[in-house]
Amino acid sequence: MTTPVYENFINGHFLKNQTGDTFAVKNPATDEVIYHVEIADEFIQNAAIESAKQGFAAWSAMTPIERSRILLKAVAILRERNDELAKVEVLDTGKPWQEAECVDVETGADVIEYFAGLAPAQVGQQQMVGNDFYYTRKEPLGICAGIGAWNYPLQIACWKSGPALAAGNAVIFKPSEETPLGAIKLAEIFIEAGVPAGVFNVVQGAAEVGQWLTANPNIEKVSFTGEVGTGKKVMASAAGSLKDVTMELGGKSPLLVFDDADVSQAVSAAMLGNFYTQGEICTNCTRIYVHKNVYQQFIDELKTRTEQNIIAGDPMDPEVNLGALISKKHQELVLGYIDKGIQEGATLLTGGKALSPASAPNGYFVEPTVFVDCNDDMTIVKEEIFGPVMSVLVFDDEDDVIQRANDTHLGLAAGVFTKDIQRAHRVIHQLQAGICWINSYGNSPAEMPVGGYKQSGIGRENGIETLDHYTQTKSIYVGMSNIESPF
Ligand code: NDP
Repeated sequence: MTTPVYENFINGHFLKNQTGDTFAVKNPATDEVIYHVEIADEFIQNAAIESAKQGFAAWSAMTPIERSRILLKAVAILRERNDELAKVEVLDTGKPWQEAECVDVETGADVIEYFAGLAPAQVGQQQMVGNDFYYTRKEPLGICAGIGAWNYPLQIACWKSGPALAAGNAVIFKPSEETPLGAIKLAEIFIEAGVPAGVFNVVQGAAEVGQWLTANPNIEKVSFTGEVGTGKKVMASAAGSLKDVTMELGGKSPLLVFDDADVSQAVSAAMLGNFYTQGEICTNCTRIYVHKNVYQQFIDELKTRTEQNIIAGDPMDPEVNLGALISKKHQELVLGYIDKGIQEGATLLTGGKALSPASAPNGYFVEPTVFVDCNDDMTIVKEEIFGPVMSVLVFDDEDDVIQRANDTHLGLAAGVFTKDIQRAHRVIHQLQAGICWINSYGNSPAEMPVGGYKQSGIGRENGIETLDHYTQTKSIYVGMSNIESPF
Protein backbone atom coordinates (compact mmCIF):
# COMPACT_ATOMS: atom_id res chain seq x y z
CA MET A 1 0.00 0.00 0.00
CA THR A 2 1.42 3.40 -0.89
CA THR A 3 1.30 6.09 1.77
CA PRO A 4 0.68 9.79 1.04
CA VAL A 5 3.61 12.19 0.68
CA TYR A 6 3.05 15.69 2.05
CA GLU A 7 4.99 18.61 0.58
CA ASN A 8 5.91 21.77 2.46
CA PHE A 9 3.12 24.35 2.69
CA ILE A 10 4.38 27.63 1.27
CA ASN A 11 2.52 30.69 0.01
CA GLY A 12 -0.90 29.16 0.36
CA HIS A 13 -0.23 25.82 -1.29
CA PHE A 14 1.87 22.67 -1.24
CA LEU A 15 5.28 23.15 -2.84
CA LYS A 16 7.53 20.34 -4.06
CA ASN A 17 11.13 20.38 -2.88
CA GLN A 18 14.02 19.99 -5.34
CA THR A 19 16.11 17.36 -3.59
CA GLY A 20 13.25 14.86 -3.35
CA ASP A 21 14.31 14.07 0.25
CA THR A 22 11.55 12.85 2.53
CA PHE A 23 11.11 11.38 6.01
CA ALA A 24 8.64 8.79 7.25
CA VAL A 25 6.07 9.31 10.00
CA LYS A 26 4.92 6.36 12.09
CA ASN A 27 1.78 5.80 14.11
CA PRO A 28 3.19 5.18 17.62
CA ALA A 29 0.33 2.83 18.46
CA THR A 30 0.98 0.49 15.52
CA ASP A 31 4.65 1.01 14.57
CA GLU A 32 3.47 1.47 10.96
CA VAL A 33 4.54 4.21 8.57
CA ILE A 34 1.41 6.25 7.85
CA TYR A 35 2.81 8.91 5.49
CA HIS A 36 5.97 10.61 4.27
CA VAL A 37 6.87 14.28 4.32
CA GLU A 38 9.24 16.23 2.08
CA ILE A 39 12.13 17.95 3.84
CA ALA A 40 12.44 21.73 3.39
CA ASP A 41 15.54 22.08 1.20
CA GLU A 42 17.19 25.35 0.21
CA PHE A 43 14.64 25.97 -2.52
CA ILE A 44 11.77 25.61 -0.03
CA GLN A 45 13.56 27.68 2.60
CA ASN A 46 14.09 30.58 0.19
CA ALA A 47 10.51 30.34 -1.01
CA ALA A 48 9.26 30.36 2.60
CA ILE A 49 11.11 33.59 3.36
CA GLU A 50 10.09 35.34 0.12
CA SER A 51 6.46 34.41 0.54
CA ALA A 52 6.45 35.36 4.24
CA LYS A 53 7.77 38.82 3.30
CA GLN A 54 4.87 39.29 0.90
CA GLY A 55 2.40 37.76 3.33
CA PHE A 56 3.59 40.09 6.06
CA ALA A 57 3.21 43.16 3.83
CA ALA A 58 -0.42 42.27 3.03
CA TRP A 59 -1.41 41.09 6.52
CA SER A 60 0.19 43.92 8.49
CA ALA A 61 -1.53 46.47 6.22
CA MET A 62 -4.95 45.22 7.29
CA THR A 63 -6.69 46.72 10.30
CA PRO A 64 -6.76 44.63 13.48
CA ILE A 65 -10.53 44.24 13.09
CA GLU A 66 -10.09 42.82 9.58
CA ARG A 67 -7.46 40.38 10.83
CA SER A 68 -9.65 39.46 13.77
CA ARG A 69 -12.62 38.66 11.51
CA ILE A 70 -10.50 36.33 9.38
CA LEU A 71 -8.95 34.58 12.38
CA LEU A 72 -12.40 34.02 13.87
CA LYS A 73 -13.40 32.26 10.64
CA ALA A 74 -10.39 29.98 11.09
CA VAL A 75 -11.54 29.30 14.65
CA ALA A 76 -14.99 28.29 13.39
CA ILE A 77 -13.46 25.91 10.82
CA LEU A 78 -11.18 24.38 13.46
CA ARG A 79 -14.21 23.66 15.63
CA GLU A 80 -16.27 22.29 12.70
CA ARG A 81 -13.43 19.90 11.85
CA ASN A 82 -12.73 18.93 15.44
CA ASP A 83 -13.08 15.20 14.90
CA GLU A 84 -11.07 15.06 11.68
CA LEU A 85 -8.26 17.07 13.28
CA ALA A 86 -8.39 15.13 16.55
CA LYS A 87 -7.92 11.93 14.55
CA VAL A 88 -4.81 13.40 12.89
CA GLU A 89 -3.42 14.10 16.35
CA VAL A 90 -4.22 10.61 17.65
CA LEU A 91 -2.53 8.91 14.70
CA ASP A 92 0.54 11.17 14.87
CA THR A 93 1.05 11.22 18.64
CA GLY A 94 -0.43 7.95 19.95
CA LYS A 95 -2.52 9.85 22.53
CA PRO A 96 -6.06 8.66 23.35
CA TRP A 97 -8.97 9.82 21.21
CA GLN A 98 -10.92 10.63 24.37
CA GLU A 99 -8.36 13.39 25.06
CA ALA A 100 -7.77 14.71 21.56
CA GLU A 101 -11.49 14.85 20.86
CA CYS A 102 -12.11 17.38 23.65
CA VAL A 103 -8.74 19.03 24.34
CA ASP A 104 -6.26 19.36 21.49
CA VAL A 105 -8.30 21.17 18.84
CA GLU A 106 -10.50 23.01 21.31
CA THR A 107 -7.68 24.53 23.35
CA GLY A 108 -5.92 25.52 20.13
CA ALA A 109 -9.05 27.20 18.75
CA ASP A 110 -9.67 28.95 22.08
CA VAL A 111 -6.27 30.65 21.96
CA ILE A 112 -6.70 31.92 18.39
CA GLU A 113 -10.17 33.17 19.33
CA TYR A 114 -8.81 34.88 22.44
CA PHE A 115 -6.09 36.77 20.55
CA ALA A 116 -8.39 37.57 17.62
CA GLY A 117 -10.62 39.26 20.18
CA LEU A 118 -7.77 41.13 21.86
CA ALA A 119 -6.00 42.42 18.77
CA PRO A 120 -8.37 45.31 18.00
CA ALA A 121 -8.20 46.39 21.65
CA GLN A 122 -4.43 46.90 21.61
CA VAL A 123 -3.67 50.60 21.95
CA GLY A 124 -0.64 52.82 22.22
CA GLN A 125 -0.05 55.67 24.67
CA GLN A 126 -0.10 59.41 24.32
CA GLN A 127 1.42 61.87 26.78
CA MET A 128 2.03 65.61 26.83
CA VAL A 129 5.63 66.67 27.52
CA GLY A 130 5.40 70.43 27.93
CA ASN A 131 3.74 71.78 24.80
CA ASP A 132 5.01 68.85 22.79
CA PHE A 133 3.77 65.29 23.04
CA TYR A 134 4.64 61.80 22.06
CA TYR A 135 2.58 58.82 21.15
CA THR A 136 3.38 55.14 20.71
CA ARG A 137 2.31 52.58 18.15
CA LYS A 138 2.29 48.83 18.68
CA GLU A 139 3.78 47.50 15.46
CA PRO A 140 4.23 43.85 14.46
CA LEU A 141 7.73 42.39 14.50
CA GLY A 142 7.77 40.96 10.97
CA ILE A 143 8.40 37.29 10.25
CA CYS A 144 8.33 35.08 13.34
CA ALA A 145 9.41 31.45 13.53
CA GLY A 146 7.54 28.85 15.54
CA ILE A 147 9.25 25.56 16.40
CA GLY A 148 7.08 22.93 18.01
CA ALA A 149 7.36 19.78 20.12
CA TRP A 150 5.47 16.55 19.38
CA ASN A 151 3.13 16.19 22.36
CA TYR A 152 0.45 18.73 21.36
CA PRO A 153 1.33 19.45 17.73
CA LEU A 154 -1.80 21.28 16.55
CA GLN A 155 -2.32 23.04 19.87
CA ILE A 156 1.29 24.31 19.87
CA ALA A 157 0.89 25.58 16.27
CA CYS A 158 -2.29 27.42 17.35
CA TRP A 159 -0.73 28.81 20.54
CA LYS A 160 2.17 30.26 18.56
CA SER A 161 0.27 31.48 15.50
CA GLY A 162 -2.70 32.94 17.44
CA PRO A 163 -0.94 35.90 19.07
CA ALA A 164 1.60 36.27 16.27
CA LEU A 165 -1.00 36.58 13.53
CA ALA A 166 -3.41 38.64 15.63
CA ALA A 167 -0.62 41.21 16.08
CA GLY A 168 -0.01 41.34 12.32
CA ASN A 169 3.08 39.15 11.94
CA ALA A 170 3.80 36.37 9.46
CA VAL A 171 4.83 32.97 10.82
CA ILE A 172 7.04 30.21 9.47
CA PHE A 173 6.27 27.14 11.55
CA LYS A 174 8.34 23.99 11.89
CA PRO A 175 6.52 21.13 13.58
CA SER A 176 8.38 18.23 15.12
CA GLU A 177 9.45 15.60 12.62
CA GLU A 178 7.41 13.09 14.64
CA THR A 179 4.11 14.96 14.19
CA PRO A 180 4.08 17.13 11.08
CA LEU A 181 0.48 16.91 9.85
CA GLY A 182 -1.45 19.04 12.37
CA ALA A 183 0.39 22.23 11.34
CA ILE A 184 -0.32 21.52 7.66
CA LYS A 185 -4.02 21.18 8.44
CA LEU A 186 -3.91 24.49 10.31
CA ALA A 187 -2.18 26.16 7.33
CA GLU A 188 -4.95 24.94 5.01
CA ILE A 189 -7.60 26.24 7.41
CA PHE A 190 -5.98 29.68 7.61
CA ILE A 191 -6.04 29.92 3.80
CA GLU A 192 -9.65 28.77 3.67
CA ALA A 193 -10.57 31.42 6.25
CA GLY A 194 -8.97 34.18 4.17
CA VAL A 195 -5.53 34.64 5.72
CA PRO A 196 -3.34 35.88 2.82
CA ALA A 197 -0.88 33.43 1.28
CA GLY A 198 2.54 33.51 2.93
CA VAL A 199 1.28 34.61 6.36
CA PHE A 200 1.52 31.07 7.75
CA ASN A 201 4.02 28.80 6.02
CA VAL A 202 4.95 25.32 7.24
CA VAL A 203 8.46 23.97 6.70
CA GLN A 204 9.27 20.37 7.48
CA GLY A 205 12.35 18.59 8.73
CA ALA A 206 14.42 17.88 11.82
CA ALA A 207 17.00 19.94 13.71
CA GLU A 208 18.72 21.31 10.57
CA VAL A 209 15.55 23.03 9.44
CA GLY A 210 15.07 24.41 12.95
CA GLN A 211 18.66 25.67 12.92
CA TRP A 212 18.12 27.39 9.60
CA LEU A 213 15.12 29.23 11.06
CA THR A 214 16.92 30.31 14.23
CA ALA A 215 19.90 31.65 12.27
CA ASN A 216 18.02 33.31 9.43
CA PRO A 217 18.45 37.12 9.56
CA ASN A 218 15.03 37.74 7.99
CA ILE A 219 13.31 36.30 11.04
CA GLU A 220 12.67 38.66 13.97
CA LYS A 221 11.55 36.25 16.68
CA VAL A 222 11.63 32.56 17.54
CA SER A 223 8.99 30.99 19.72
CA PHE A 224 10.25 27.56 20.71
CA THR A 225 8.67 24.64 22.56
CA GLY A 226 10.92 21.73 23.42
CA GLU A 227 13.65 20.47 25.69
CA VAL A 228 15.85 22.70 27.84
CA GLY A 229 19.01 21.61 25.99
CA THR A 230 17.53 22.37 22.59
CA GLY A 231 16.20 25.68 23.93
CA LYS A 232 19.73 26.74 24.85
CA LYS A 233 20.95 25.96 21.33
CA VAL A 234 18.01 27.83 19.80
CA MET A 235 18.67 30.87 21.97
CA ALA A 236 22.40 30.86 21.21
CA SER A 237 21.69 30.69 17.50
CA ALA A 238 19.00 33.39 17.70
CA ALA A 239 21.51 35.65 19.46
CA GLY A 240 23.52 35.77 16.21
CA SER A 241 20.94 38.16 14.78
CA LEU A 242 19.56 39.37 18.15
CA LYS A 243 16.17 37.80 17.66
CA ASP A 244 13.53 38.00 20.33
CA VAL A 245 12.84 34.56 21.85
CA THR A 246 10.05 32.82 23.71
CA MET A 247 11.11 29.54 25.31
CA GLU A 248 8.59 26.98 26.54
CA LEU A 249 10.81 24.24 27.94
CA GLY A 250 10.76 21.22 30.19
CA GLY A 251 9.90 20.81 33.86
CA LYS A 252 10.13 18.58 36.93
CA SER A 253 7.25 20.05 38.79
CA PRO A 254 6.34 19.40 42.43
CA LEU A 255 2.87 18.77 43.85
CA LEU A 256 2.59 19.27 47.63
CA VAL A 257 -0.17 17.34 49.40
CA PHE A 258 -0.74 18.57 52.97
CA ASP A 259 -2.42 16.50 55.68
CA ASP A 260 -5.63 18.53 55.56
CA ALA A 261 -6.04 17.96 51.80
CA ASP A 262 -8.90 16.09 50.18
CA VAL A 263 -6.76 13.04 49.50
CA SER A 264 -8.95 11.61 46.72
CA GLN A 265 -8.79 14.94 44.91
CA ALA A 266 -5.02 15.01 45.33
CA VAL A 267 -4.78 11.47 43.90
CA SER A 268 -6.89 12.60 40.93
CA ALA A 269 -4.50 15.52 40.36
CA ALA A 270 -1.44 13.28 40.67
CA MET A 271 -2.85 10.80 38.16
CA LEU A 272 -3.89 13.54 35.72
CA GLY A 273 -0.52 15.20 36.13
CA ASN A 274 1.41 12.02 35.38
CA PHE A 275 -0.70 9.78 33.16
CA TYR A 276 -2.69 12.17 30.95
CA THR A 277 -1.21 12.08 27.42
CA GLN A 278 0.71 9.03 28.75
CA GLY A 279 2.86 11.39 30.81
CA GLU A 280 4.11 13.47 27.88
CA ILE A 281 3.14 16.89 29.27
CA CYS A 282 5.69 19.55 30.16
CA THR A 283 3.89 20.75 33.32
CA ASN A 284 3.48 17.27 34.84
CA CYS A 285 3.80 17.01 38.63
CA THR A 286 6.33 14.21 38.53
CA ARG A 287 7.52 14.87 42.11
CA ILE A 288 4.64 14.31 44.53
CA TYR A 289 5.46 15.36 48.10
CA VAL A 290 2.88 13.88 50.51
CA HIS A 291 2.62 14.78 54.21
CA LYS A 292 3.51 11.81 56.39
CA ASN A 293 0.09 11.80 58.10
CA VAL A 294 -1.75 11.07 54.83
CA TYR A 295 1.03 9.26 52.98
CA GLN A 296 -0.32 5.71 53.44
CA GLN A 297 -3.87 6.71 52.54
CA PHE A 298 -2.55 8.54 49.47
CA ILE A 299 -0.46 5.69 48.10
CA ASP A 300 -3.13 3.06 48.83
CA GLU A 301 -5.73 4.95 46.82
CA LEU A 302 -3.20 5.81 44.12
CA LYS A 303 -2.24 2.15 43.68
CA THR A 304 -5.84 0.95 43.55
CA ARG A 305 -7.00 3.57 41.06
CA THR A 306 -3.91 3.21 38.86
CA GLU A 307 -4.30 -0.56 38.69
CA GLN A 308 -8.08 -0.52 38.21
CA ASN A 309 -8.93 2.54 36.16
CA ILE A 310 -6.30 2.80 33.47
CA ILE A 311 -7.12 1.29 30.09
CA ALA A 312 -4.28 1.10 27.59
CA GLY A 313 -4.89 0.07 23.99
CA ASP A 314 -5.78 1.30 20.50
CA PRO A 315 -5.90 5.07 21.11
CA MET A 316 -8.85 5.46 18.72
CA ASP A 317 -10.98 3.32 21.04
CA PRO A 318 -12.98 5.88 23.06
CA GLU A 319 -12.63 3.75 26.21
CA VAL A 320 -8.83 3.89 26.13
CA ASN A 321 -7.29 6.45 28.50
CA LEU A 322 -3.58 5.60 28.16
CA GLY A 323 -1.96 5.86 24.75
CA ALA A 324 1.39 4.97 23.22
CA LEU A 325 4.59 6.96 23.73
CA ILE A 326 5.80 8.93 20.73
CA SER A 327 8.51 6.55 19.49
CA LYS A 328 10.35 3.32 20.19
CA LYS A 329 13.39 5.41 21.14
CA HIS A 330 11.38 7.41 23.65
CA GLN A 331 9.83 4.23 25.07
CA GLU A 332 13.34 2.87 25.63
CA LEU A 333 14.41 6.13 27.28
CA VAL A 334 11.47 6.01 29.69
CA LEU A 335 12.09 2.33 30.50
CA GLY A 336 15.76 3.24 31.08
CA TYR A 337 14.69 5.80 33.71
CA ILE A 338 12.51 3.15 35.38
CA ASP A 339 15.52 0.79 35.58
CA LYS A 340 17.57 3.59 37.05
CA GLY A 341 14.88 4.22 39.70
CA ILE A 342 15.03 0.57 40.75
CA GLN A 343 18.85 0.54 40.74
CA GLU A 344 18.99 3.67 42.90
CA GLY A 345 16.70 2.13 45.53
CA ALA A 346 13.20 3.44 44.83
CA THR A 347 10.35 0.94 45.33
CA LEU A 348 7.94 0.23 42.51
CA LEU A 349 4.42 0.67 43.85
CA THR A 350 2.92 -0.30 40.51
CA GLY A 351 3.83 -0.54 36.80
CA GLY A 352 7.40 -0.45 35.57
CA LYS A 353 7.25 -2.42 32.33
CA ALA A 354 6.52 -2.01 28.63
CA LEU A 355 2.93 -2.87 27.73
CA SER A 356 1.59 -4.72 24.73
CA PRO A 357 -2.20 -4.29 24.80
CA ALA A 358 -4.23 -6.75 22.73
CA SER A 359 -5.78 -3.98 20.60
CA ALA A 360 -2.39 -2.35 19.84
CA PRO A 361 0.27 -5.02 20.33
CA ASN A 362 3.04 -3.21 18.42
CA GLY A 363 2.61 0.20 20.07
CA TYR A 364 5.20 1.90 22.26
CA PHE A 365 3.30 1.63 25.54
CA VAL A 366 4.68 1.88 29.07
CA GLU A 367 2.68 0.91 32.15
CA PRO A 368 1.59 3.76 34.38
CA THR A 369 4.40 3.62 36.92
CA VAL A 370 4.59 4.86 40.50
CA PHE A 371 7.76 4.88 42.60
CA VAL A 372 7.65 5.26 46.38
CA ASP A 373 10.50 5.44 48.92
CA CYS A 374 12.07 8.07 46.69
CA ASN A 375 14.59 10.65 47.82
CA ASP A 376 15.52 13.98 46.30
CA ASP A 377 18.87 12.77 44.95
CA MET A 378 17.51 10.01 42.73
CA THR A 379 17.77 10.47 38.97
CA ILE A 380 14.03 9.82 38.55
CA VAL A 381 13.31 12.66 40.98
CA LYS A 382 15.76 15.08 39.37
CA GLU A 383 15.38 14.61 35.61
CA GLU A 384 12.42 15.13 33.30
CA ILE A 385 11.30 11.70 32.05
CA PHE A 386 8.35 12.77 29.85
CA GLY A 387 6.52 9.48 30.32
CA PRO A 388 4.01 7.96 32.78
CA VAL A 389 6.42 7.77 35.70
CA MET A 390 5.54 9.34 39.07
CA SER A 391 7.83 9.66 42.10
CA VAL A 392 6.23 9.95 45.53
CA LEU A 393 8.17 11.47 48.45
CA VAL A 394 7.24 12.03 52.10
CA PHE A 395 7.47 15.31 54.03
CA ASP A 396 6.78 16.53 57.51
CA ASP A 397 7.51 20.25 57.64
CA GLU A 398 6.17 23.07 55.46
CA ASP A 399 9.36 25.12 55.17
CA ASP A 400 11.41 22.03 54.49
CA VAL A 401 9.15 20.80 51.68
CA ILE A 402 9.18 24.24 50.03
CA GLN A 403 12.96 24.19 50.07
CA ARG A 404 13.01 20.65 48.62
CA ALA A 405 10.45 21.54 45.96
CA ASN A 406 12.54 24.52 44.85
CA ASP A 407 15.83 22.63 44.79
CA THR A 408 15.95 22.24 41.00
CA HIS A 409 17.15 24.26 38.03
CA LEU A 410 13.67 23.89 36.51
CA GLY A 411 10.60 25.95 37.40
CA LEU A 412 7.76 25.33 35.01
CA ALA A 413 4.85 24.42 37.29
CA ALA A 414 3.84 23.54 40.86
CA GLY A 415 0.75 22.61 42.82
CA VAL A 416 -0.55 22.57 46.38
CA PHE A 417 -3.39 20.58 47.89
CA THR A 418 -4.67 21.88 51.23
CA LYS A 419 -7.95 23.13 52.67
CA ASP A 420 -6.14 25.85 54.65
CA ILE A 421 -6.60 28.93 52.48
CA GLN A 422 -3.75 30.87 54.08
CA ARG A 423 -1.32 28.00 53.77
CA ALA A 424 -2.32 27.48 50.14
CA HIS A 425 -1.35 31.01 49.15
CA ARG A 426 1.61 31.26 51.53
CA VAL A 427 3.16 28.13 50.08
CA ILE A 428 2.39 28.81 46.44
CA HIS A 429 3.91 32.30 46.71
CA GLN A 430 7.21 30.70 47.76
CA LEU A 431 7.33 28.07 45.03
CA GLN A 432 9.67 28.98 42.19
CA ALA A 433 7.45 28.15 39.22
CA GLY A 434 5.63 30.08 36.52
CA ILE A 435 2.40 28.04 36.41
CA CYS A 436 0.81 27.14 39.75
CA TRP A 437 -2.37 25.39 40.80
CA ILE A 438 -4.16 25.28 44.16
CA ASN A 439 -6.44 22.25 44.65
CA SER A 440 -6.31 21.69 40.90
CA TYR A 441 -3.76 20.59 38.33
CA GLY A 442 -3.10 21.04 34.63
CA ASN A 443 -5.81 23.42 33.43
CA SER A 444 -4.43 26.02 31.08
CA PRO A 445 -7.11 28.34 29.67
CA ALA A 446 -6.30 30.84 26.92
CA GLU A 447 -6.73 33.73 29.35
CA MET A 448 -3.97 32.54 31.72
CA PRO A 449 -0.32 33.34 30.91
CA VAL A 450 1.92 30.26 31.00
CA GLY A 451 5.69 29.89 31.02
CA GLY A 452 8.62 28.83 33.11
CA TYR A 453 10.85 30.21 35.85
CA LYS A 454 14.57 29.36 35.93
CA GLN A 455 15.63 27.06 33.05
CA SER A 456 12.05 26.12 32.17
CA GLY A 457 11.61 29.08 29.91
CA ILE A 458 11.62 32.70 28.90
CA GLY A 459 8.55 34.78 28.11
CA ARG A 460 4.95 33.63 28.25
CA GLU A 461 2.30 32.13 26.03
CA ASN A 462 -1.41 32.97 26.32
CA GLY A 463 -2.85 35.76 28.44
CA ILE A 464 -2.87 39.47 27.54
CA GLU A 465 0.87 40.00 27.98
CA THR A 466 1.72 37.60 25.16
CA LEU A 467 0.35 40.00 22.56
CA ASP A 468 3.03 42.47 23.64
CA HIS A 469 5.69 39.84 22.95
CA TYR A 470 4.59 39.87 19.29
CA THR A 471 4.71 43.64 18.85
CA GLN A 472 7.34 46.32 19.17
CA THR A 473 6.71 49.82 20.44
CA LYS A 474 7.39 52.75 18.18
CA SER A 475 7.62 56.09 20.00
CA ILE A 476 6.84 59.22 18.01
CA TYR A 477 7.72 62.64 19.43
CA VAL A 478 5.73 65.55 18.01
CA GLY A 479 7.19 69.05 18.25
CA MET A 480 4.52 71.76 18.74
CA SER A 481 6.89 74.75 19.01
CA ASN A 482 10.02 76.00 17.30
CA ILE A 483 13.26 74.10 17.90
CA GLU A 484 15.69 76.03 20.13
CA SER A 485 18.89 75.42 18.22
CA PRO A 486 22.31 76.34 19.64
CA PHE A 487 23.70 76.22 16.09
P1 NDP B 1 13.06 18.85 21.29
O1 NDP B 1 13.77 19.92 22.01
O2 NDP B 1 13.78 17.61 20.95
O3 NDP B 1 12.48 19.39 19.90
C1 NDP B 1 11.61 20.50 19.82
C2 NDP B 1 11.62 21.04 18.40
O4 NDP B 1 12.90 21.60 18.11
C3 NDP B 1 11.39 19.98 17.32
O5 NDP B 1 10.63 20.56 16.28
C4 NDP B 1 12.81 19.67 16.89
O6 NDP B 1 12.86 19.09 15.61
C5 NDP B 1 13.43 21.04 16.93
N1 NDP B 1 14.89 21.08 17.06
C6 NDP B 1 15.72 20.11 17.51
N2 NDP B 1 17.00 20.59 17.54
C7 NDP B 1 16.95 21.89 17.12
C8 NDP B 1 17.93 22.91 16.93
N3 NDP B 1 19.22 22.71 17.22
N4 NDP B 1 17.52 24.11 16.49
C9 NDP B 1 16.22 24.36 16.24
N5 NDP B 1 15.26 23.43 16.37
C10 NDP B 1 15.61 22.20 16.81
O7 NDP B 1 11.76 18.54 22.16
P2 NDP B 1 10.71 17.38 21.96
O8 NDP B 1 10.06 17.53 20.62
O9 NDP B 1 11.37 16.09 22.30
O10 NDP B 1 9.60 17.74 23.05
C11 NDP B 1 9.66 17.33 24.37
C12 NDP B 1 10.17 18.46 25.24
O11 NDP B 1 9.36 19.62 25.05
C13 NDP B 1 10.10 18.16 26.72
O12 NDP B 1 11.27 18.59 27.35
C14 NDP B 1 8.93 19.01 27.19
O13 NDP B 1 8.99 19.34 28.53
C15 NDP B 1 9.00 20.19 26.30
N6 NDP B 1 7.71 20.86 26.19
C16 NDP B 1 7.53 22.06 26.82
C17 NDP B 1 6.29 22.69 26.80
C18 NDP B 1 6.09 24.01 27.46
O14 NDP B 1 5.12 24.68 27.11
N7 NDP B 1 6.89 24.44 28.39
C19 NDP B 1 5.16 22.07 26.13
C20 NDP B 1 5.47 20.83 25.48
C21 NDP B 1 6.70 20.25 25.53
P3 NDP B 1 12.70 17.49 15.42
O15 NDP B 1 11.91 16.97 16.57
O16 NDP B 1 11.93 17.37 14.16
O17 NDP B 1 14.06 16.95 15.39
